[in-house]
Amino acid sequence: MKLIFLGPPGAGKGTLAGLVSKEYDIPQISTGDIFRDAIKRETELGKKVKEIVGRGDLVPDDLTVSLVRERLGQPDAQGGYILDGFPRTIPQAAALEAFQSMDAVVNFTISDETVIGRLSGREVCKSCGAIYHVKNMPSKVKGICDKCGGALYTRPDDTLESITNRLEIYKKQTEPLVSYYRKKKLLRDIDSSKSPEDTLLQIRKVLGKPK
Ligand code: ADP
Repeated sequence: MKLIFLGPPGAGKGTLAGLVSKEYDIPQISTGDIFRDAIKRETELGKKVKEIVGRGDLVPDDLTVSLVRERLGQPDAQGGYILDGFPRTIPQAAALEAFQSMDAVVNFTISDETVIGRLSGREVCKSCGAIYHVKNMPSKVKGICDKCGGALYTRPDDTLESITNRLEIYKKQTEPLVSYYRKKKLLRDIDSSKSPEDTLLQIRKVLGKPK
């Protein structure tokens, strides 16, 4: 199954991609995670994108597309995958379409207020990437990941300034993908304003049982 998870920052794409990846046994491919990992390891790519990602701007399309193209060529992606955070612009979607055909695009819908509330309290595990929220979904021990014991941190782009910028960019550059994929009859709308469990139930409904 080849899937795209589409939606504003903070809609829960990353959290749900983790759950769906386990359940359907397909890898989660997150461009945001790839960029953050490159920044952490201070690779050439990391140096190029560090400031862009910090501000919440988009990494140039050509760079992002070639990265995804390479990732989708890896052996573990041959039986399907979840694209989490890609495509984010019409040119990215067009480039993807030229070499891969998708089965469904899951569209996460949520209000701006809920998004801002979620992102301003988000915490992420440094080791395994699990996602928490100081109020809505706290870890059992403060600052420590329930799953692997790693340290939790706040993403440097989860400042109010960067969050506002990411939301604006989403509306201008990414939201046009909703009608793009609706026209292609690939779009499956889900309401992601409630709990991850509730969202997972809706995703199961629209995707059907894993094979
Ligand atoms: P969020 O959905 O919370 O904004 P992501 O982890 O998906 O965060 O992405 C973090 C950052 O990585 C983005 O703000 C952007 O700078 C960069 N990025 C991720 N995916 C893409 C993409 N498809 N095109 C361009 N930039 C991207």
